[in-house]
Amino acid sequence: MRREEDEDDLLEEEEDEEVSMARPVQIVVADEDEHSFSLQEEVLERLLLREELQDLHVVVVSVAGAFRKGKSFLLDFMLRYMYQQSTISWIGSENEPLTGFKWRGGCERETTGILAWSEVFVVEKPDGCKVAVLLIDTQGAFDSQSTIKDCATLFALSTMTSSVQVYNLSQNVQEDDLQHLQTLMFLIRDWSYPYEHPYGLEGGQSFLEKRLQVKQNQHEELQNVRKHIHSCFSNIRCFLLPHPGLKVATNPQFDGRLRDIDEDFKKELVTLIPTLLSPENLVEKEIGGVKITCRDLLHYFKAYMKIYQG
Ligand code: GDP
Ligand code: MG
Repeated sequence: MRREEDEDDLLEEEEDEEVSMARPVQIVVADEDEHSFSLQEEVLERLLLREELQDLHVVVVSVAGAFRKGKSFLLDFMLRYMYQQSTISWIGSENEPLTGFKWRGGCERETTGILAWSEVFVVEKPDGCKVAVLLIDTQGAFDSQSTIKDCATLFALSTMTSSVQVYNLSQNVQEDDLQHLQTLMFLIRDWSYPYEHPYGLEGGQSFLEKRLQVKQNQHEELQNVRKHIHSCFSNIRCFLLPHPGLKVATNPQFDGRLRDIDEDFKKELVTLIPTLLSPENLVEKEIGGVKITCRDLLHYFKAYMKIYQG
């Protein structure tokens, strides 16, 4: 017993020392065999109850979607932006490997759950108010029926706790993507029809309008999803991102350096990231029309967890 406590103390000390080393931390762990979720309360407390953060209004930007669709890759560019804020050259230099949330090729599965970046950023909005920005990564698996429900729960949880949900999709919007809904921005990767709908937000908007149209000959259920989605979210957007190039998608030696990424992709990235994260575009998390603080967010996480465990 004594030994274990000593080890715990040691671990805590090590973790304290590591505070300066920002990294992804798991805040919700999914047990796929048990179909259950657990909140890592202490981890979340350590993130949100810091003296300088707990009373600030919180902005929570989540990227959610299936594995291996470039979520971490995108989040790492978000991190570059957050760390470089004021500079025009936030995107980095040509030969700098991309780091942060681990991303990689191959088809090996990772654990399902919600990760947060351990550093919560403090940003001053144009009106002078300081807000805390939390970046989270929601990883789901859609490879069998039994996990779809778990996945929907996970998405619901991250949607309820985030102010901006980026739903990361490959190539198109499928019918079941609308059923999982809980989305604010559909981000379509590897968009291949720029001649029909151009890359970026405008093309995304016109594409989405078309996709969300209610048609007479549609099945009633499909019509209802389309009608309902607008009542769930005050702002639904869509962004079409081009394919980043073959090195990104297939070269195992690729380490994220800009030189190896297609120009078209980088061009769109330079508009996408500030659309989500520039000080004037940050969206504070509101519940019942009231902005919430980091401390409130912790309580909501706990409360929502209870509901889903119900
Ligand atoms: P995650 O599991 O969704 O977090 O995906 P990762 O960010 O780990 O990326 C998985 C693989 O996809 C890596 O090999 C990336 O280089 C690659 N990748 C990143 N962005 C894109 C994209 O927009 N399109 C394609 N086709 N591959 C991408
Ligand atoms: Mg990932």
